[in-house]
Amino acid sequence: MTIDILNPATQKIVGQLPTDTTEDIAFKISKAKDAGDEWKKTSIEHRQKIIINFSKAMAENITELAKTQSLETGKPAKQAQAEINGTINRIKYFLDYTPQLIKPETVFTEGNTIREELHWEPLGVIANISAWNYPWFVGSNVFIPALLTGNTVLYKPSEFASLTGQNIKNLWEKSGLPDGVFQMICGAASTGDALINADIDGLFFTGSWATGRAIIDQSARKLIPIGMELGGKDPAYCTDDINIKKAAAAIADGAFYNCGQSCCAVERIYVHTKIYREFIDGFIDAVKQFKVGNPLNEDTYLGPLTRPSHRQYLNAQIEDAVAKGAKIVFGKIQTETDSGFFHPVVLTNTDHDMDIMQEESFGPIIGIQEVSNDEKAINLMNDSRYGLTSSVYCNNIQRAENILSKINTGSAYVNCCDRISPYLPWSGRGDSGLGSTLGSPGIRAFVQPKSWHIKSNND
Ligand code: NAD
Repeated sequence: MTIDILNPATQKIVGQLPTDTTEDIAFKISKAKDAGDEWKKTSIEHRQKIIINFSKAMAENITELAKTQSLETGKPAKQAQAEINGTINRIKYFLDYTPQLIKPETVFTEGNTIREELHWEPLGVIANISAWNYPWFVGSNVFIPALLTGNTVLYKPSEFASLTGQNIKNLWEKSGLPDGVFQMICGAASTGDALINADIDGLFFTGSWATGRAIIDQSARKLIPIGMELGGKDPAYCTDDINIKKAAAAIADGAFYNCGQSCCAVERIYVHTKIYREFIDGFIDAVKQFKVGNPLNEDTYLGPLTRPSHRQYLNAQIEDAVAKGAKIVFGKIQTETDSGFFHPVVLTNTDHDMDIMQEESFGPIIGIQEVSNDEKAINLMNDSRYGLTSSVYCNNIQRAENILSKINTGSAYVNCCDRISPYLPWSGRGDSGLGSTLGSPGIRAFVQPKSWHIKSNND
């Protein structure tokens, strides 16, 4: 069996790859277990060297790697390059901070009689099931710390980013990683399903809430560590104390970057009554600047939807909102069926009866809602089953921090949005996920403690 990889801008096939069967997966797992016996014994310095080779190879091939990503996902070339550069930066964080986090330490001694030590050991074979929207970021959040801490990895890229997955696998091969330590599993949902059922020691998934929940149901009985990076419905709130034009432009970028296909894209906006009208004008001005077009063109800001079938879902959210009283102030419902492109749509007069303010859109559409005070904004921001990121724009930092301290969210942004730092854990609350990637928790996620109680003799 093979999968066809389509260019979403043209609907033409740009590649074809063989998919892995259940037997292939079992074979790769046994290879990973054998390779892992040696890999976990290697020094951290040795692993660092190989990962530095990988990172250098990324930098040397950035234009080609970004082009492949653009062809299969529709991500504009500039944004794909920014992602690869950002990944190189994240790798540096992991290289610098992992050694100190997994170093054995003596935590207690009693004279010469007893010594207690804490050691960290790898989990074993990690299943890394990944999404297409940021394949370099979300893949590397798992496979870099997993490898660095001595695990082996079975990496299943999304079926919509399999060529990038193949590029990642090839880079590892050229970087001196021993055979079997990193292997790619190719395929769609049923292949992911077979991987989950295989003899894995840790499962790290990035994708939608619906798939994540199905995977949890299926794998809970395995009693292995599980990480879930799922969707979001991330709010941004503009108080009456802001530079309206600048905030509107920044939030428009946060909502529409990568065609709105970011887990931490701004997905709903609340604006204080005093600046509501002016904010909408500023927001529309910003959106008008976004160029929709061929992702390979340098000046393209919005490429096609990665999954053209998502058009129907976006149209349904717009229709639902309009039927319940929202106003389209920019763009329109898009019914063309032969195009992968979806032009931005801005709705105002939205409320929480509408899907667009409740369910992840994951596309270039946004709802803006007027609020009369901070308390109402807080209630609305918290009225969600998701909890990935939340932002507040306000020149009074104390006021912004006070608002965000009341929000149930994994990341809190003051005067910024749609931002990830390797130094801080990336974690979702509620239906946005389980566990963390990045930061120190995102390194420790790949090791298990072993507690040593050592008596100096048995007298
Ligand atoms: P998806 O759930 O459709 O697929 C994700 C991965 O799961 C793919 O590799 C897919 O092949 C695999 N898969 C699908 N069904 C499976 C099954 N039954 N068993 C095992 N594997 C299965 O998600 P997507 O469309 O690739 O990604 C978009 C979603 O990911 C959005 O909801 C977005 O918010 C979320 N996301 C979250 C983060 C985060 O860090 N929180 C980052 C990126 C994307």
